[in-house]
Amino acid sequence: MGNLSENFNHKDFACRCGKCKNEYRIHLGLVGILENIAVHFKKRPRVLAGYYCEDRLEAMKREKISWHAKGKAAHIVIDGIPANELFKYAETLEGVNGLGLYLDDNAVHLDTRPLEKKESWVKDKGKYSPLTSDKRAQYGL
Ligand SMILES: [Zn+2]
Repeated sequence: MGNLSENFNHKDFACRCGKCKNEYRIHLGLVGILENIAVHFKKRPRVLAGYYCEDRLEAMKREKISWHAKGKAAHIVIDGIPANELFKYAETLEGVNGLGLYLDDNAVHLDTRPLEKKESWVKDKGKYSPLTSDKRAQYGL
């Protein structure tokens, strides 16, 4: 039993830049979604990345609005489950409005951005591209 929910602790979502004091920020809607995924696959997802502190964001030179910095995004993997299966299930969940298939890590990025900003993408060999229907076919989505 975690301190946030059945499967999750604050530390699962803490920044791992190694410089801050493991700052964290977590949107409980996101935790609920991860619990739903755990129940569906009967396995707890591992959170590879949750919150990014300001210094880490700066270092990564990512776009100003990062859903990670708002505590609304996570990269997750489930051991033994292909990332495209995880992606396809996450896509059916209400509130998951940002979804990325990260082939290099067999991981999925998911976030709870507002519906009007809905977006899906693929990261393959370090390169990001929008998830077109061609890409869906290519990656079995
Ligand atoms: Zn940090």
